[in-house]
Amino acid sequence: MSTTIFTKIIQREIPARIEYEDDEVIAIHDIQPQAPVHLLVISKEPYPTVNDVPEGQVQLLGKMMMVAKQLAQKFSIAESGYRLVMNCNPDGGQVVYHIHLHVIGGKKLGTMA
Ligand code: AMP
Repeated sequence: MSTTIFTKIIQREIPARIEYEDDEVIAIHDIQPQAPVHLLVISKEPYPTVNDVPEGQVQLLGKMMMVAKQLAQKFSIAESGYRLVMNCNPDGGQVVYHIHLHVIGGKKLGTMA
């Protein structure tokens, strides 16, 4: 799998605002936030898209959701509400081919496209 900008963040080759890290994931603030709270929960294993995650790694996807939930609580948007988005491939709007979950909230979000 090719090196991505997120791999460089994980390896501390480029800076990021890191909110959380463990053996499996890292969570950072999005550099171009779409809402007052916009975090990215990034898998340390650089699967390019969710399509590439093997059945045996389903736990990783659950872990990303659990970390997102905890961050929503930390940033006080759990009750007001937030959106979790994982873009996949060009029609899904994916830009960085290294799986990540967007955690977006802190304002009333519009309807999905
Ligand atoms: P996606 O369209 O789902 O691939 O989203 C990629 C996200 O990564 C976008 O929201 C970008 O703003 C964000 N992003 C790209 N480079 C960086 C970076 N160096 N630090 C933080 N977020 C980034």
